[in-house]
Amino acid sequence: MGIATVNPATGEVVKTFEALSDAEIDSKVAIAQAAFLQYRQTSFEQRSQWLQAAAAILEAEKDRLGALITLEMGKTLKSAIAEVEKCAVVCRFYAEQGAQFLADEAIASDASHSFIRYQPLGIILAVMPWNFPFWQVFRFAAPALMAGNVGLLKHASNVPQCALAIADVIRQAGFPDGVFQALLMDSSKVAALMADDRIKAATLTGSEPAGASLAIAAGKNIKKVVLELGGSDPFIVLPSADLQAAAATAVTSRMLNCGQTCISAKRFIVANSIADEFEKLLIAEYEQLKVGDPMLPETDLGPLSTSNILEDIDRQVQAIVQQGARILMGGTRLDRPGNYYQPTLITDIADDNSLGREEFFGPVGLLFRVADINQAIALANNTPFGLGSSAWTNDPAEQEQLIDDIEAGCVFINGMVKSDPRLPFGGTKRSGFGRELGVHGIHEFVNIKTIWVK
Ligand code: NAP
Repeated sequence: MGIATVNPATGEVVKTFEALSDAEIDSKVAIAQAAFLQYRQTSFEQRSQWLQAAAAILEAEKDRLGALITLEMGKTLKSAIAEVEKCAVVCRFYAEQGAQFLADEAIASDASHSFIRYQPLGIILAVMPWNFPFWQVFRFAAPALMAGNVGLLKHASNVPQCALAIADVIRQAGFPDGVFQALLMDSSKVAALMADDRIKAATLTGSEPAGASLAIAAGKNIKKVVLELGGSDPFIVLPSADLQAAAATAVTSRMLNCGQTCISAKRFIVANSIADEFEKLLIAEYEQLKVGDPMLPETDLGPLSTSNILEDIDRQVQAIVQQGARILMGGTRLDRPGNYYQPTLITDIADDNSLGREEFFGPVGLLFRVADINQAIALANNTPFGLGSSAWTNDPAEQEQLIDDIEAGCVFINGMVKSDPRLPFGGTKRSGFGRELGVHGIHEFVNIKTIWVK
């Protein structure tokens, strides 16, 4: 469909966009480079004020921007507005903390005076997905701009109006022209852009193939890249857990954003002794979910974002069942216009069912039963991914074992995995590398310059 707004709730093509030509892309890179040379001289105080202004605009415009998110990718309006609010939080966080994170750091050595100075790199290319079309961009942009870098955004082709609206918020906040621009372009041109000397580094949030392709281009050109890729997060429940709270959280996490969340609880891994009870609680939670028009306040799940995602999830569900798994709830599309799929729960997934290790990017939970904590951890780690993980137990020794042995970028004990501006976020294994957010996130795109004075 090219670059276009297609309403996922109806299938209507709302607006189409012409992709930028090579000459237009080159001219935007030139603008960004010229902007960087001035922008890198601005003070932390000035950048902090601009970020505060961006936060204020996001808050003031959250209804309009939230409606745009819902129109383009189908999440519920209430969650879209919450996403815009969270973007304001990350802008404020780096406005308040950025200067301290980037202050010179003295380190004793054989010099009379030695220290680290953090300096911006230049133009950073951000390749971003549609699932949190504002949040994914702002969690990159807020620290990158605070550090003195400038950004070029290649957003997903189905959220062009979000891309333009984000660039507009940043411009209206007072950031100088050219400091942050959206490039409406085809992803096939990203590799060539990475070869441009003016682009210093890149970040990509999205699928494994897209991440690998960007990493190859970055590698060829010796450029830094941060990759935030897929996940098949385990959600482990052991006998001492609060089962009711665990079941409610499992379903909230799995169904957030109609299941199109990298850190959703995707595989529920439950100890045998409590599995029957947990299954009943899960089903009770599923039965309360309301699927429907994402604009309505009572809706919990809207449509999937694109017809391709709908077809992919339907194909995966059929394939896992063909390999012997059993559907407990849902398992089909909804018979109505738009990309609607039923909340689905699947169990009896054999060890050799290859789909059990895959990422389901839609409202589909997989329920596994295990003998004990060791089996739970082995199953949790039996996936190519290592993004988030949630584990439920009130036994301190079990908590320690889970923290030590789960292969993931984070372990949340008795809670839902979520991103928080204060805490680093990122994955291991095929979920990618590098970190966003927190102090670690702002240090990804800076030159850590060592200064030694005799
Ligand atoms: P995708 O196809 O990889 O798209 C993401 C972005 O990459 C889009 O801007 C896309 O542009 C671009 N892209 C696609 N192929 C590319 C290539 N060969 N070279 C350069 N850029 C390319 O991702 P998706 O499947 O829509 O998104 C879902 C995936 O993202 C899931 O696996 C999910 O888990 C992951 N995700 C991870 C995180 C995290 O923080 N770890 C967060 C959210 C989502 P076009 O739209 O123009 O193709």
